[in-house]
Amino acid sequence: MYVCINCGTECNELFRRYCPSVLKVLKCEECGLSADKYIEYDPVIVFVDLILIEKPAYRHLLYNSDFKSYWKLSIILWLAESSRAWSSCETNKTELTISEMDLTHNDTLQDRCNFYNLLLHTALAFTGFVCAVIVVTELKWFIIHEKPYKYSVRDLSRALIAGGCGKLLGLLGIVWRHIASGPYYFLIQGYTVLCLLTAYSVVCKTGKGGSLIGLITGFLLYGYICTSASKLHIVIPNITLI
Ligand SMILES: [Zn+2]
Repeated sequence: MYVCINCGTECNELFRRYCPSVLKVLKCEECGLSADKYIEYDPVIVFVDLILIEKPAYRHLLYNSDFKSYWKLSIILWLAESSRAWSSCETNKTELTISEMDLTHNDTLQDRCNFYNLLLHTALAFTGFVCAVIVVTELKWFIIHEKPYKYSVRDLSRALIAGGCGKLLGLLGIVWRHIASGPYYFLIQGYTVLCLLTAYSVVCKTGKGGSLIGLITGFLLYGYICTSASKLHIVIPNITLI
């Protein structure tokens, strides 16, 4: 079953092929617009609309397209975010002069910048985020009894992966190091939040407010895991010293 990219109504078919070179895009019975204009478009245009956070483009990607490699996308996202964190950590480390670092601090920093540690923390943070959003959303459906007919946990997971791809912009920080931290990275975080809100609202058929309620616990847990992971290595040496 397909979906109208304009209103989200389910459609049995998106186009009718009259001959190998002629196809007609069908209109949605609910809103009267073309059910999915993107089937005639070049994939690059769909990609540009996804970057521009257009809801119809997200509906096309999640429901009407043949794209199924979300697991590959999640691995790319995981490696990219870990590499960005590692690059940012290495930059901070080299900015400190030897005189500013005592031996304990140096060991702590080395441990924190360990790439395998960062891989583990990022995987934990991503898993925690997705699980928290799914649990809160299921709780929401249980309480308000307004679960959309087409909603599924699989679609929500896919939407979170697709929306989370805004974080790939963090890779720019590896090339242009000044983007890795400070206000530039906050801009990337803000853009990713907007992408996630749009992807969530497409799957759960909620407004921006409802989507924020569904996502907020995930954001808090993600932030908590990232913060506690970086603090963990600061606490350990103190305990050893005592
Ligand atoms: Zn429609």
